[in-house]
Amino acid sequence: MDGKAVAARVRAEVKAEVDRLKLEHGLTPGLAVVRVGEDPASKVYVNGKKKAAEEVGFRSWELHPDEGITQAALLELIHQLNADPAVHGILVQLPLPRHIDPDVIISAVKPEKDVDGFHPLNAGNLLLGRSTTRACTPYGVMRLLEEIGCDPAGKRAVVVGRSNIVGKPMALMLLQKNATVTICHSKSDLRREVEGADILVVAVGVAELVKGAWIKPGAVVIDVGMNRKPDGKLVGDVEFAASAERASFITPVPGGVGPMTIAMLMRNTLDAAVRYGLVPVVK
Ligand code: NDP
Repeated sequence: MDGKAVAARVRAEVKAEVDRLKLEHGLTPGLAVVRVGEDPASKVYVNGKKKAAEEVGFRSWELHPDEGITQAALLELIHQLNADPAVHGILVQLPLPRHIDPDVIISAVKPEKDVDGFHPLNAGNLLLGRSTTRACTPYGVMRLLEEIGCDPAGKRAVVVGRSNIVGKPMALMLLQKNATVTICHSKSDLRREVEGADILVVAVGVAELVKGAWIKPGAVVIDVGMNRKPDGKLVGDVEFAASAERASFITPVPGGVGPMTIAMLMRNTLDAAVRYGLVPVVK
């Protein structure tokens, strides 16, 4: 499954809608990305997001306070972005320095501008099956499934990993599409669960944890993991070559889910701009 190609298609769809919004409504979606400190991986991710935002025609801002910023000062920054009508989406790149509580910061972002879908209100709406802003990575996985014509209804879906940003929302989105969902974590009998999966989504962060021999023949395998090996090579959480021999579809790492995450962030920002940017601001 070529995530890069699907992601390019999503970005092209977003760009076409941005062009129309500008022309018909004079509205340019705006995305503000907050990156605290000098985490090298965060810098790479944020650069990718900024580049994509520019390509689809958004206004974008990177706010880059230094590592030592206090939680109170960071909250003040978030409040300013919340109040700025040119900003439709706010993304706070994780991880944050240890002295800052990410839950406090995530909860401070206005839910309407929470384009990561991490705010408790958006996460709660997903749980309740309501329409809401969806976490970008699982949202991207759902789009990949759609692209290959994989309808989760009635299938056994196994999600490995229960984080709030990938595993849990992934399981809820699959459930909403009527899959029979199992969530695995560090205490699960992993092999037994994986062997029964028609759709397998792995988001753990352990290189090649899931073995090719465990994959059910014909399964759809989505590998969210991104792990750097000592030789510098990037690999997923699934043994790729051996799994590809058994799976009907499998995402590579890199070039699978990663580009979809950024593309769905563009989608979420556009949707936030349409939903709230077109509504007259009540002062
Ligand atoms: P977390 O570390 O927050 O969660 C990892 C999960 O994996 C936990 O639920 C943990 O279980 C579970 N786990 C750990 N070891 C095992 C094991 N041996 N067997 C089964 N489950 C296990 O990670 P994230 O969800 O944030 O990220 C997961 C991976 O996805 C990482 O590699 C990350 O880099 C990547 N990622 C990729 C993105 C992309 O765009 N491609 C976006 C986001 C993440 P427990 O809860 O019991 O501890």
